[in-house]
Amino acid sequence: MGMVQTEYRKSGAPPAGKATFDAVVVGAGFSGLYMLHSLRDRLGLRVRVFEAGNGVGGTWYWNRYPGCRCDSDSYIYCYTFDRHLLQEWEWSERYPEQDEILRYLEHCADRFDLKPDIQFGTRVNAATFDEKTNHWEVRTDKGDVVNAKYLIAAVGSLSATNVPNFKGLESFKGKWYHTSQWPHDGVDFTNKRVAVIGTGATAVQAIPEIAQQAKHLTVFQRTPNFCVPARNGKVDAEVTKARKADYDGVVDRIKSSFFGFELYFMPKSVLETTPEEREREFDRMWDEGGFAFWLANYKDMFFDKKANDVIADYLKRKIRSTVKDPEVAEKLIPKTYAYGTKRQPLDTNYFETFNKSNVALVDAEADGPIEEMTPTGIRAGGKEHAVDIIVIATGFDALTGPLKNLGIRGRGGQSLAQKWEDGPETYLGLAMAGFPNLFTITGPQSPSVLSNMPVSIEQHVEWITDCIDHMRRNKLSTIEATPQAQQLWVAHVAEIVNTTLMPTANSWYMGANIAGKPRQFMPYLGPEGVGGYRKKCDEVAAKGYEGFVLS
Ligand code: NAP
Repeated sequence: MGMVQTEYRKSGAPPAGKATFDAVVVGAGFSGLYMLHSLRDRLGLRVRVFEAGNGVGGTWYWNRYPGCRCDSDSYIYCYTFDRHLLQEWEWSERYPEQDEILRYLEHCADRFDLKPDIQFGTRVNAATFDEKTNHWEVRTDKGDVVNAKYLIAAVGSLSATNVPNFKGLESFKGKWYHTSQWPHDGVDFTNKRVAVIGTGATAVQAIPEIAQQAKHLTVFQRTPNFCVPARNGKVDAEVTKARKADYDGVVDRIKSSFFGFELYFMPKSVLETTPEEREREFDRMWDEGGFAFWLANYKDMFFDKKANDVIADYLKRKIRSTVKDPEVAEKLIPKTYAYGTKRQPLDTNYFETFNKSNVALVDAEADGPIEEMTPTGIRAGGKEHAVDIIVIATGFDALTGPLKNLGIRGRGGQSLAQKWEDGPETYLGLAMAGFPNLFTITGPQSPSVLSNMPVSIEQHVEWITDCIDHMRRNKLSTIEATPQAQQLWVAHVAEIVNTTLMPTANSWYMGANIAGKPRQFMPYLGPEGVGGYRKKCDEVAAKGYEGFVLS
């Protein structure tokens, strides 16, 4: 597809002397790639994408740890805007591995000829809104200084790596790696004593793989997780054929669904069921694998602790029946939070791995927390564990971290990072008062990480494209959320989630994984999920961008 170039459209004179674009997009993952395609090839804008990695893919470029794969079914973990692409692309498995998803995104970048407009190996480190010209000045670590009318952060929700400040890490003489900055040529664990720190979705994928190769593996757990089997494998050819034949239906359903999946809560309270009836349903969801247990369970699971306990009990029994050593099983059973209030990891032989003779579990509660790294290992609970390699699977400064790292300054030079010191404040998770012409794709206070990401990404990209189109057609120069609309949205996000059990857990959704981060539930949950949120965003646009000031 050829690139459409248009003349720079004047609405607020562009500053002289610097490269000027209609839009700068930060990031070339799922969201940045589609944003570029949409603005350039649909609207004909001049777009520059800055990408820190040396290739496209975002999350799928950086996270290359063993076992890394998708947790959404592949037939819906992809772009849906191009029906030909949907029909042509063949996924090899239900949950493809990282390298296959990266190949898919590479294919998309080539298919839509996106790479000429992406500057790789370049990190944006400052973006300042110039109130005289109504343009953003964007600076990078490579010394670029460019101007753009629109700035679009397509930086992902889980891209700011969290390496906790472990005492003595610099003294460790072996090698250590964070899972989200994995070496491209892999890590050889053969004959090595390995430590994995963390038991989140990443570690749950990595631990069984590392245990197969390493001489010995010690897992350092701070909080145990409820896990459900992924049940990965080849998808039946007839199922794939039927899905492809009904892709329009599939796309309609996921767009109007609660979480962006073809999954729906059962319209019944678990407390109204007999033990036999619910056991049958639990077994069915357990056998189905994937997110069914989490996102298609009884309707009161997220609302009523008693109901939640009944559901959690099934998963606790599964851990007890899988892990042979009862002491280890007890350590692996979550006890401090309600099921589903932390992100559901999907596993392949995770609990089984703790039956292997070369695997040990060090639990912060029972055995004592990590105290320090030493030159030869990790000291926890007063005991030193000698290791050659440390795998740090401690996650991310989620949602706000990637945006705060961009060095954004809006009206009056106010810094976004400072403005968000007490927690994020956005309108629809798409825009912020005081930061005109800045859009965030899957930003905080949008469904983002509580949805199948490509569904939410496509929705935001299309909404932003329509909005910019509206601005151009009406010769407008700025769009900015009003403080009132923002305040109402922030209150609405909190009000909805406070009716659920979600805020009761120390989750990364709450910012609880990062020392000093304000406790605030960051994604938007409902009340009608991504379908209702889409309607709300469309209504805002239909009412002439209600809650925004356009000038
Ligand atoms: P995570 O869920 O935040 O897990 C980090 C783990 O490290 C937790 O067990 C955490 O314990 C522990 N930890 C953090 N700081 C620690 C410290 N100072 N000392 C000891 N332990 C510490 O991160 P993640 O596993 O990378 O996953 C993040 C998110 O990425 C997931 O929830 C998911 O949304 C996404 N993800 C997706 C996929 C997929 O779709 N395939 C795969 C992997 C990840 P606490 O629980 O006590 O904080």
